[in-house]
Amino acid sequence: MSTLNKMKLTIEAKSQNEGFARSVVAAFFIQINPTLEQVEDIKTAVSEAVTNCIVHAYDGAQQGNIEISCTLTENSMTVEICDFGKGIDNIEQAMKPFFTTVSTGERSGMGFTVMQAFCDSVDVTSKQGLTTVKLVKKVA
Ligand code: ATP
Ligand code: MG
Repeated sequence: MSTLNKMKLTIEAKSQNEGFARSVVAAFFIQINPTLEQVEDIKTAVSEAVTNCIVHAYDGAQQGNIEISCTLTENSMTVEICDFGKGIDNIEQAMKPFFTTVSTGERSGMGFTVMQAFCDSVDVTSKQGLTTVKLVKKVA
């Protein structure tokens, strides 16, 4: 399916940018006429991915960049969320329900599971200094 439109956003890994990022992605998605439910789904998934960059990639330092790229086709949006932080050691383990590396009880380990539930696909690649979470959401 050919690309209709693209955008790229760079934000700092600050908590106050999480809602901003989610809203920008949703506003871009509107162009291919998703249902309200599909908009809510992608907002939820983007929130989880961006929160992971803020909390884990940069250990909550509230600095470091997050790059978000969106590509639209007639019937889908691909969202890539990249950070340049510490990376994920074991992706398969990280994606399991209830797996978290935060031992304080603040995190439930459900972020990736939520992304998978609300998107058509979730692909993660990671090494130290570059982690990419690729979400695909279809319409219709
Ligand atoms: P929750 O999302 O429920 O608050 P969580 O963030 O720990 O908890 P997931 O979002 O499923 O759960 O992530 C699982 C684990 O993967 C995290 O605990 C963390 O160790 C690792 N992780 C996720 N995203 C990143 C990232 N961008 N950089 C480094 N580590 C990450
Ligand atoms: Mg998370």
